Amino acid sequence: MTDTGNADAVVIGSGFAGSVAADRLIEAGLSVVMLERGPWRDTVPVRSMGIAERTPFPRGGALVTDTLRSVHHRWLPKRGLTLNRRGLIEIFFGEGLSSMCSSSVGGGSHVYSGLFRYPQVEAFWDGICDGMSNEEMAPHYERVLARFAMITPTAALKIPHQAHERFGPDDPMQGPASTPPTWLGFLYPEEIGKHRRVTDENGIERTELDYDDPDSHGFLGSPSGAKTTLDFLYLAPLLKRGLVLHDLAEALTIVAQPRGMPARYRVDYRDHRSGELRALHTDHVILGAGAINTLKLLLHSRDVTKTLAGMPRLGKRIGGNGDLFAFWDYNEPGRNLSTGLPFHGGFQLKDPNYPIPLGGGGWPAAETYPLPRFLKERIKRAAFTNCMGVDAMDGSLSMEDGRLRLRFDARNSPIYDQVKATFRRVSEVTGRRIYYPKNPITVHALGGACMDRDAEHGVVDAQGEVFDHPGLYVADGAAFPRIPGGPPTFTIAAWASHLGEKLVEKLRHAV
Ligand SMILES: Cc1cc2nc3c(=O)[nH]c(=O)nc-3n(C[C@H](O)[C@H](O)[C@H](O)COP(=O)(O)OP(=O)(O)OC[C@H]3O[C@@H](n4cnc5c(N)ncnc54)[C@H](O)[C@@H]3O)c2cc1C
Repeated sequence: MTDTGNADAVVIGSGFAGSVAADRLIEAGLSVVMLERGPWRDTVPVRSMGIAERTPFPRGGALVTDTLRSVHHRWLPKRGLTLNRRGLIEIFFGEGLSSMCSSSVGGGSHVYSGLFRYPQVEAFWDGICDGMSNEEMAPHYERVLARFAMITPTAALKIPHQAHERFGPDDPMQGPASTPPTWLGFLYPEEIGKHRRVTDENGIERTELDYDDPDSHGFLGSPSGAKTTLDFLYLAPLLKRGLVLHDLAEALTIVAQPRGMPARYRVDYRDHRSGELRALHTDHVILGAGAINTLKLLLHSRDVTKTLAGMPRLGKRIGGNGDLFAFWDYNEPGRNLSTGLPFHGGFQLKDPNYPIPLGGGGWPAAETYPLPRFLKERIKRAAFTNCMGVDAMDGSLSMEDGRLRLRFDARNSPIYDQVKATFRRVSEVTGRRIYYPKNPITVHALGGACMDRDAEHGVVDAQGEVFDHPGLYVADGAAFPRIPGGPPTFTIAAWASHLGEKLVEKLRHAV
């Protein structure tokens, strides 16, 4: 094992949680090392940053070899099957719930649909523990929103495939009865139809959003930089201000050090370029690996290497955010759903017996799929549809004999039956079949290291610090005390901002 030095804080993961937390720490003058297991992606903005080693998003034949990074299933090897360390997507097949996430410098910002919303649950942060409330969190949401320069969708933006464009007044489906405040993270053109290459004040180049370009917005990445991603928005300025970022560097174990050692924690990681095992020493570890991977690291460190202890509620209260994804054989002649934005907005059945709004979009970059032309054309007319909602948050993640086990019983959460009934009804009234899985697949696994009032009820306190491990923090959605029931990323970023601010305040008081 090679010792690679010390830092005030080690941040694990470069997604929303890791990037926003690191931003707060660097702003306060702390030394920060960030570990990210994925590679830099080959995009217009990343090229303009001068990053030499970049990995393209999977397109064409590479979709077969480069899309999947790793797969976890109870019949596969204990640590999962790693297919391609530069792959984009990771899947955890669990019992009753499966979870999907991604791997890149910039984390899920490359694959997400660019949609920010507040939690659907009002008073999301209220009444859990002292020092935490909606009021406390409000400035953090505002700060994140301002930084992302998000845009509110309006008719002036002429976004294609929205419900009002697709469904006439007599159709059984319409736009949703009400839409909560929504923001979209794309660089819109000053003039629709003209898509300029622009350079911002930091020298970052991007191409403005082109609705007709099917390659640049979806969940297979945005090579043009039209989608706002964290690699250039947060990490580029942080690198200039001293952030040390190791890409293709996977944290394996967190080791609590005995009293008297110069640092409280050692973080062991693997450099995937050399294969070498390395170690960092720090007083502050910020976990932002995405909920399931953060829990995996904590469970592995407590139950396999036994280098952390305690955390009796670790892995309890996991939810899938009510996500249910389905394949919709939409097939409207002449409509290419692979264009436009990744998310085509919400729609709802007029029938009051089915009050749940659904969302969805097309299959991105379909033109590049290694398939015969007629199939590609068919996929361009197909869609995915989905729903989110509040589930029972009663799943669990555990480490059993060195193997991760994710368990969830969707029958305890009425939301799933309601959504399935809505899917069936939409199929009936449109004559276009929706195919959905028996058990939910989520891209929003949350909980498992929940914020609460003490270690008997949760894993972290109102500042995100693990109860029985000072200096160890959970910055991502694993810490959520409730299920938001809508897109969670805005809330993850706001939580990471709060956590970073509180850590800095604590250090200032300690001086
Ligand atoms: C197809 C898709 C569409 C989505 N659309 C939306 C949307 O529109 N709105 C919304 O709110 N949410 C959306 N999401 C969810 C969103 O992507 C996540 O909520 C968000 O990315 C979570 O942020 P995070 O920082 O917690 O984790 P991530 O963004 O996943 O970042 C975690 C990073 O940590 C890295 N990592 C993991 N383990 C380790 C390790 N051991 N060592 C080092 N690095 C590690 C990963 O490679 C990853 O880059 C979508 C997700 C998907 C898959």
